[in-house]
Amino acid sequence: RKATAEQVIRAMESDVNPFNKQPHKPQYKRLLERRKELPVFGQMSEFLKMFTQNQIVVVVGETGSGKTTQIPQLVCYSDLPHTKGQIVACTQPRRVAAMSVAERVANEMDVSLGKEVGYSIRFEDMNEPGATFLKYMTDHTLLREAMNDPDLKQYSTIILDEAHERTLATDLLMAFLKDLAQRRSDLKLVVMSATLDAHKFQKYLSIAGPSKPAPLFKIHGRTHPVEVFYTQEPEPDYIEAAIRTVLMIHRAEGPGDILLFLTGEEEIEDACRRIKFEADDLANQDPQSIGPLVCIPLYSSLPPQQQQRIFDPAPPSRAPSGPPGRKVVVSTNIAETSLTIDGIVYVVDPGLSQVKVYNPRIRFESLLVSPISKASAQQRAGRAGRTRPGKCFRLYMQKDFETELEEQTHPEILRTNLANAVLELAKLGVKDLIHFDYVDAPAPESLMRALELLNYLAALDDEGNLTPLGAMMADFPLDSQMAKMLIVSPEFNCSDEILTIVAMLSVPSVWRRLPNQQKEADVAKALLTIPDGDHLTLLNVYNSYISNKHDRNWCWNNYLGARALQEAENVRAQLQRTMERYDIELVTTQDERKLWQSIRKALVCGFFMQVAHKEGEKGGYLTVKDNQVVSLHPSCGLDSSPEWVIFNEFILTTKPYIRTVTEVRPEWLLEFAPNYFDLSTFPAGETKRALQSVLKKRTLKAVDGTGTGSVSTRSNK
Ligand code: ADP
Ligand code: MG
Repeated sequence: RKATAEQVIRAMESDVNPFNKQPHKPQYKRLLERRKELPVFGQMSEFLKMFTQNQIVVVVGETGSGKTTQIPQLVCYSDLPHTKGQIVACTQPRRVAAMSVAERVANEMDVSLGKEVGYSIRFEDMNEPGATFLKYMTDHTLLREAMNDPDLKQYSTIILDEAHERTLATDLLMAFLKDLAQRRSDLKLVVMSATLDAHKFQKYLSIAGPSKPAPLFKIHGRTHPVEVFYTQEPEPDYIEAAIRTVLMIHRAEGPGDILLFLTGEEEIEDACRRIKFEADDLANQDPQSIGPLVCIPLYSSLPPQQQQRIFDPAPPSRAPSGPPGRKVVVSTNIAETSLTIDGIVYVVDPGLSQVKVYNPRIRFESLLVSPISKASAQQRAGRAGRTRPGKCFRLYMQKDFETELEEQTHPEILRTNLANAVLELAKLGVKDLIHFDYVDAPAPESLMRALELLNYLAALDDEGNLTPLGAMMADFPLDSQMAKMLIVSPEFNCSDEILTIVAMLSVPSVWRRLPNQQKEADVAKALLTIPDGDHLTLLNVYNSYISNKHDRNWCWNNYLGARALQEAENVRAQLQRTMERYDIELVTTQDERKLWQSIRKALVCGFFMQVAHKEGEKGGYLTVKDNQVVSLHPSCGLDSSPEWVIFNEFILTTKPYIRTVTEVRPEWLLEFAPNYFDLSTFPAGETKRALQSVLKKRTLKAVDGTGTGSVSTRSNK
């Protein structure tokens, strides 16, 4: 009864779409011809056989061989999920990839995006229950679904894509699904990876017995040789060097598109402007030999329509016999394996990427620009050899490649804050976090730190069991600290405002600060700033956006990102729905002064572990307990440097900064987080002395009978 390759091909070539019984649009056949050229197509029969005979299959194949777009379709032909009200899921570590691939596959299958083929990412669902049978989703979204439906009953097959990236969510899912597969014999699991050493996954997924590793389906990619060049000297400025190299290729090399890897949005936008400027200049000087160039940015916060531009063909030459046009894509690691851009012949690789690093000692997670691994460098070079022999220009020395780079990228579980993961595992029903069957076990210190934080937040009790509050927190797609703050905010009569602040903290920055208009942007920002705290400023921005009726011109004139604000509105609505499910009321306070104070108190309930105390007169701060020296970020809108502040983020650029900062009172720390601010556990120092004197005053007042005591206190346990 299971589909064979001949049957699948016949169904694909039929004039009627087997999935919705509609006649095919003309473009369907054209796309089908393109798909037939993909390496995976030639091995369809082999795949279907292995897939039907095994519960778990590991798939490896070069980037661009057709794993992400074709394997899920083949699985649909085999599972026929649409006839059984089931769904085939394919996870992606990145939102961009989930959205863009879903759209592509909907086109290839000649069905509607959001109907038969859909996607789910945090805060955005493009599915139709009952109609969607193939769903691309972020790994994290599926993990969250599993928390509420531990059997994932609606899924017939789950495909974990890009497993080689070893994101925290994919790792946890793999462990969870390995266990689920043993409980649900009808569930199939496919784990796909772009790197060729899949033995680790095969061994890990050997549920048929330790001597029987999961079978491997290997796609034989057709790749062309890529010549690799290194610099002779270290490059002092990699952006400068990258731009120079792109222009050198444009001037001196044959036709073919260029892919440049940089680390983040700002850097990418800036490089695009500079490349465009210089390339136009070159072309004007010498239109006979230098063709037109388009420069296309690619990073995760880019609007989806703009992301699609990477698939546009290079611009045509200006004159019939003139030099050909060239496309330059400037991308973060998204283009390393997640999205394949055809036509790339040249890769420029500065050897860096932005990674999240966590220091459990000081409990800080930060984004750092760090050297990539050898495996990543090889993937990047491979992008140049998709269609014909290519060239890869590494902007570092060969000896550094050989001696300085790590072999593989570290799995995220080894370098991240595990608080959310631990909460999610607890909600998934994992009792013993230490002996859980991880693909790679995290450092015990990171686990302890996570358990400790969740205990302080009262999400886990002293025995490590999930509390009712913790179960509720896990249901919010938010950081545990934010979830806690939102849940307790009605007690302070400001849940309406905290909801807005949480939404604003969950979207990309709303401040537009273009390099040539920084002064104007800063003036506009000052007008919206509330000096008591950046959190209040965010609230003010959002409220002004709403009272100006979502006007794009208003956003533009105030140097604000309309898209980010719109997204905040969407996020807010989604979170509000989760609040309603738990009967968490939306309440507010009329008196603005009182309201602001209540908001600052609610902030303490979530972020009491992110407090800094001013040390000395120079405006320097020391984080509480961890004693990290930090400064207020230049973007901070406080009009003074208050003694105590709470912060949302720690960032390390030229020096350690805290960003999005609000003034708090020390008595709130003692009142709302007594367990954390238990002074007997504090290291000696100025902070402890300051808190001790507050405590003394408080006791005196209490004896006096003049203490406030009006706010309903909520201890943190
Ligand atoms: P893999 O997952 O093995 O890296 P993919 O399935 O992502 O391979 O890619 C297969 C082919 O589909 C590639 O040639 C890629 O360029 C093409 N492709 C994927 N998405 C799109 C899109 N949105 N528009 C045009 N081509 C696309
Ligand atoms: Mg892929």
